Amino acid sequence: MKVCVIGGGASGMMCATMIARKGHSVDLYEKNEKLGKKLYITGKGRCNVTNATVGDEFLKNVINGKKFVMGAITRFNSKDTINFFEDVGIPLKVERGNRVFPESDKSSDIIKGLEKAMRWAGVNVFLNKPVQKVLSNESEITGIVVDGEEKLYDSVIVATGGISYPATGSTGDGYTFAKDLNHTIIEPVPALCAIKINDTECAKFSGLTLKNVKLMAKKIGRFIFESDIGELSFIHYGLSGPLALSCSSFICREDFRYVKLIIDLKPTLSIETLENRIDREIVELKAKSVSSLLEQLMPKVMVSSFAQRIGISLSEKANQLNKENRKKIAKLLKNYEYLPSSLDIFETAIITSGGINLKEINPKYMKSKLYNNLYFIGEVLDIDALTGGYNIQLAFSTAVTCASDFKDIKN
Ligand SMILES: Cc1cc2nc3c(=O)[nH]c(=O)nc-3n(C[C@H](O)[C@H](O)[C@H](O)COP(=O)(O)OP(=O)(O)OC[C@H]3O[C@@H](n4cnc5c(N)ncnc54)[C@H](O)[C@@H]3O)c2cc1C
Repeated sequence: MKVCVIGGGASGMMCATMIARKGHSVDLYEKNEKLGKKLYITGKGRCNVTNATVGDEFLKNVINGKKFVMGAITRFNSKDTINFFEDVGIPLKVERGNRVFPESDKSSDIIKGLEKAMRWAGVNVFLNKPVQKVLSNESEITGIVVDGEEKLYDSVIVATGGISYPATGSTGDGYTFAKDLNHTIIEPVPALCAIKINDTECAKFSGLTLKNVKLMAKKIGRFIFESDIGELSFIHYGLSGPLALSCSSFICREDFRYVKLIIDLKPTLSIETLENRIDREIVELKAKSVSSLLEQLMPKVMVSSFAQRIGISLSEKANQLNKENRKKIAKLLKNYEYLPSSLDIFETAIITSGGINLKEINPKYMKSKLYNNLYFIGEVLDIDALTGGYNIQLAFSTAVTCASDFKDIKN
């Protein structure tokens, strides 16, 4: 069979390798001058290539497409990824949170491993070749257009990625191909990114990182996101850091008019315990000011805005605060609210949420339900997961699942 893979990222390289290993002729087209440009910048240049969890533990971190990817992550899981890279001479190591990295801490080694695997399997790689169109007749795909020329193929695999960090080559071409072929697209939106807040307070707090806090998102009174205890950073236009990134994935498809964010600045203490602590602090502070009291409870930069929110004067003596205001302080420490205005732009989003409508794809082989010889793999699909190595693993798992539809003609 003559197979075309469009895109030389994580999913495309893995898929091309697996199909070529079965004896098929595989051509991989990459629009950039080199392969794996996005992989190169992953994990801050170290590439968190998978997460050493499997099954339900892995699935807990998948946001969209949980059911759809279940079979794929069983067929090719993180252990298989680790073995794959060991076999091509790239040993991996497991770190905190089961995050898996190359032992060398170099993302370039992951790319080298995939390139080597393709070379050994006999994949033909074409660089600087943006595919312009996928060709079809009524019932099947017939090939592609590249450099204005038609090339005929028995099967075409779209592995063009999402639309985030477009400078790496993922500019949403896969969505255009899919639409032209009558597939529907779930609107792509940025995810795993900063959250914009229309409030000058964020600019005042910019540079501040809150440690050991919790972030929650509520939509019309119902929690749609509740983080574990972790880190949250302020940037001049909103919230960033690990908690904000995770939160963005849960709220990215919501109407922001109905969403509010709540920071719990003291997640290990109940309101009652906090009230008692405030009373104790006040006794210890004797005749000192409210400002001194608040400085015991939060970073200094937050003190003035915090006091403003509950309408207390910073110069007032702490021991003159009445019961109601003491309760207000405790309550605000547990419920510091912001209204999100939007998410950050695609240029800075780690992942795209949305993509090819999963209802139109058979998850057994990642095959289109509209054309028998068309496949979609990786981030171009409407699947996404949290940070921790899950997204690259999803790219590999969907790639190998697609390859399993091709017969082994070698033996
Ligand atoms: C800054 C950053 C850090 C990240 N860190 C991690 C991490 O540590 N761990 C993790 O699991 N995930 C991480 N991710 C997410 C992860 O990189 C992606 O989910 C993953 O690369 C998706 O793989 P893919 O093959 O679907 O798409 P991509 O890797 O984006 O590959 C798509 C390829 O297709 C090519 N292409 C597009 N259109 C065409 C066309 N018309 N013709 C030819 N070629 C085309 C592109 O140039 C690109 O090379 C990170 C993402 C970013 C942006």
